[in-house]
Amino acid sequence: MNETDLATLLSGLPLPAMLIRQDDRILACNAPALALLGDSIVGRHPAMAVRAPAVLEAITAVAREGGVRETRTTLRREGQEEAFHVTVSGQGEGMVLCVFRDVSAEEKAGAMRRDFVANVSHELRTPLTALMGFIETLRHAAKDDPKAREMFLGIMEHEAGRMNRLVRDLLQLSRVEAEERVRPKGEVELKPLLEGVISSLRGVAEREGDRVELTGDPVTVPGDPDQLTQVFTNLIENALKYGAAGQVVRVSLTPEETVRGPAVRVEVADEGDGIDPVHLPRLTERFYRVDTHRSREMGGTGLGLAIVKHIVSRHRGWLKIDSEPGEGSRFSVILPLG
Ligand code: ADP
Repeated sequence: MNETDLATLLSGLPLPAMLIRQDDRILACNAPALALLGDSIVGRHPAMAVRAPAVLEAITAVAREGGVRETRTTLRREGQEEAFHVTVSGQGEGMVLCVFRDVSAEEKAGAMRRDFVANVSHELRTPLTALMGFIETLRHAAKDDPKAREMFLGIMEHEAGRMNRLVRDLLQLSRVEAEERVRPKGEVELKPLLEGVISSLRGVAEREGDRVELTGDPVTVPGDPDQLTQVFTNLIENALKYGAAGQVVRVSLTPEETVRGPAVRVEVADEGDGIDPVHLPRLTERFYRVDTHRSREMGGTGLGLAIVKHIVSRHRGWLKIDSEPGEGSRFSVILPLG
């Protein structure tokens, strides 16, 4: 095969690929490799294209001994540091082919999965350890003390409730994620739905001495009624939990024009302490809490807003969070009308 044939062959490969001659010069590159490594590297030494010692060592070894070597390196792509898996293979006559596969997304997904498992285990272990401790106490120290037994059973019920909520939210999250790409089929009248949510949270509101006020005109959106009920339950419950005692939580429906057409904005505004802007971008991450202790005290799992985000995205909507410390918070869900 001559050099032109080799270049044509490389151009058929979807991944960045670079061929190196026996005399240690780059013989050919396909377009993705030129975009990744620089567009004037043909004819130059491989070190001009890839500065990673691991890759250069693999090229030298394969040129000498043939065979295949796999290595990993990071390269800058469009201003970002990305991880690449590099396959270096001998092609006969001392020629070496390097193929680069971007594994950043894979590595990130793997790290997220590991973090998630670690978080879930940690969240479950705390109440579980408490339960086991109290079982032990009930068996021995508090065996014949009815008063202590009653108190410990109360705490155990509380801890078991926490585990129950966590498992419920985890299942809900995985269900919502699984159908995120499936468009909801139903039609939802938002005003009665919000009235239902508010009345189901009356007990929480009364406990906090709060009032929930609903304003705006009736409107229908395409959506899944159960999931939208979940969204507004989570948002209004958070407003009641994290807002000031004795406040008014304002829920409003207002028409909104978006780039994708007409929509409705459902805003839930509380009169709480607000949230420092540094936390806002991370608030919808699973298990992210501004104040873990406070969230746990309130019976929170740290998953409520992650569930909200996935449901809203399934409805092709947006979640916006505006808050300033001392000013209260406003969580808005914007849902397209069609
Ligand atoms: P949690 O179960 O902890 O309430 P969420 O995912 O619903 O989990 O919320 C994540 C975190 O966002 C909460 O722990 C809290 O720190 C913060 N947060 C949510 N809503 C509000 C609000 N209305 N005012 C202040 N902070 C809030």
